[in-house]
Amino acid sequence: MAPRAGLQLVQSGSLVKALAPPISKRLAGLLKVLEMSALELGTGELILIDVDQICVADWVQWKCKYGCKNYGRSWCCPPETPTPEQARAILKDYREAILIRNSGKSINHYRENNQKRRQQVHGWKSTVALERRLFLAGYYKAFALVSESCALCRECSYPESCKFPMNRRPPVESFSIDVFQTLENIGMGFRIAKNVVEEHNTYSIILLD
Ligand code: SF4
Repeated sequence: MAPRAGLQLVQSGSLVKALAPPISKRLAGLLKVLEMSALELGTGELILIDVDQICVADWVQWKCKYGCKNYGRSWCCPPETPTPEQARAILKDYREAILIRNSGKSINHYRENNQKRRQQVHGWKSTVALERRLFLAGYYKAFALVSESCALCRECSYPESCKFPMNRRPPVESFSIDVFQTLENIGMGFRIAKNVVEEHNTYSIILLD
């Protein structure tokens, strides 16, 4: 599916802008919130997409179940998160979404150390903070799907009570979102990093109505 004209937003330096004006009054309001938030929260690149362009696939949770040590050990990972059927049903309540892309080149991305955790926590908190701003701006259904596993605690308290339930959100993968197909759907494409020193990208999504 081709990207919708007039709805792609990019952060360029400190700016978030629409690529193909004219834009609606509603979109202009959204741009204003995003522009201010991107500056203050240090979010990555912001791209407004149709929810229909998000691909939910049954195979994604198999990758969680077979190959990830966090499966069954975090409040933010399967089987605690929505099933693919539930994810598809939830997406039907939304029309648009903001895809947040963060890019970087750091060997720490592939290691479990404090620097990696700091990056994760920053990305997680800025996404949840942007969701909050959108809620206060009138997008009351705004809901964040964050990136990677929850790293707010050094070790998740699961199955004991979550220590930061206000910040708990499902990561995009645990929501059964096929990020690669979604990128294809919006015309962005992707390249898989084959070496730890190559640039890597992480993706978060905020659902909007
Ligand atoms: S906030 Fe802490 S306890 Fe809650 S899901 Fe995240 S790591 Fe687990």
